[in-house]
Amino acid sequence: MKVDYIIVGLGLAGLAFAEELLANNKTFLVFEDASQTSSLVAGGVYNPVILKRFTPVWNAKEQLATALPFYENLEKKIGQKFDKKFVIKKAFKSIEDQNNWFSAFDKPKVAYFLDDRLDKNNYEGVFGDFNFGNVKEAGRIDTLKLVKAYRTYLQENNLIRFEKFNHKNIIFEKEMIQYENLQTNRIVFCEGFGVKENPYFKHLPLDEVKGELLTIYAPEINIDFILKSTLFLIPLGNHHYKVGATFNHKDKTSKPSVEGKEELVEKLKKVITAPYKIINQTAGIRPAVKDRRPLIGVHPKYSQLSVLNGLGTRGVMIAPTVAKNLYNHLENGAILDIETDIKRFDK
Ligand SMILES: Cc1cc2nc3c(=O)[nH]c(=O)nc-3n(C[C@H](O)[C@H](O)[C@H](O)COP(=O)(O)OP(=O)(O)OC[C@H]3O[C@@H](n4cnc5c(N)ncnc54)[C@H](O)[C@@H]3O)c2cc1C
Repeated sequence: MKVDYIIVGLGLAGLAFAEELLANNKTFLVFEDASQTSSLVAGGVYNPVILKRFTPVWNAKEQLATALPFYENLEKKIGQKFDKKFVIKKAFKSIEDQNNWFSAFDKPKVAYFLDDRLDKNNYEGVFGDFNFGNVKEAGRIDTLKLVKAYRTYLQENNLIRFEKFNHKNIIFEKEMIQYENLQTNRIVFCEGFGVKENPYFKHLPLDEVKGELLTIYAPEINIDFILKSTLFLIPLGNHHYKVGATFNHKDKTSKPSVEGKEELVEKLKKVITAPYKIINQTAGIRPAVKDRRPLIGVHPKYSQLSVLNGLGTRGVMIAPTVAKNLYNHLENGAILDIETDIKRFDK
């Protein structure tokens, strides 16, 4: 069997690249071995403002302009709803915090996403002594539903194999690559933190940032916005909420931990006053980079091998843009932004 591309990994990165290939009538096969969970457990929030410092997310406006139609098209194609628009309400910790919010209106790139009216805390069961500020153009992609549905879609079209891609079995031939019974022009590795086992790209400076989330049932809370306080509280409907997330730089496993749960329960005491029951706990490793920019590009020696990784804490917003950029680089010779090109780490 001969295909234009092999994609290794079907999280948000692999999905976005597969869509690019389908849009351009390229043939491909995906390998997915369920070794990583980041895209399955993600909160799925897209938020154009960094709410710790009230600064804009890098290229937020441009990323949203690509991402929102991307998810809308997927909803039409798959026939399911993945995107839900939400206002994000930032619960201020102090008057100083509130003042910093208003200072951010001097920066046009942030001000664009902020509403200048503050909200009083009229919400049952939620802390908010210093009022709330509203972030516009935000929302949530149900990434678990999306990734599962997309894998099914690929399976129905014989475009995915649920097995480990074994890097040792790559054979470089003159123009092509032979991989087991497949011939291909290119391989794009979208392995998330799994790239640490990839002999061609494991040198890339990817940090593990494990994250854990709880799903809670809080019958006395009824909010229809995403609350950003000490944690994010994300409404799932029927008084269920996702709560998170933790940031752990030491633990490399994707297993939910007692420590993660305790940290979330402790922080939640400062977010809600109402009783709740824990329904579920999930964990995954964010593929993060110190300079907070994605890792895309071509292997310096083996030009048939590329990588699409480093989506960090914001895979929902970034994946569609960087998948497009990588495709245009590979097929049309477009130059990659050096901020995202893996070449920035060449010695
Ligand atoms: C707790 C938590 C909360 C988060 N919240 C948000 C949020 O609210 N908003 C947001 O935008 N982002 C969020 N993120 C980050 C987001 O999840 C990531 O940016 C994104 O999912 C990374 O996608 P990826 O496809 O690069 O990696 P992954 O999702 O890790 O996908 C890689 C895939 O490759 C597969 N794979 C790896 N190696 C192989 C191999 N050799 N053979 C076959 N398959 C292989 C893995 O099984 C996996 O499915 C969160 C992450 C975590 C952990």
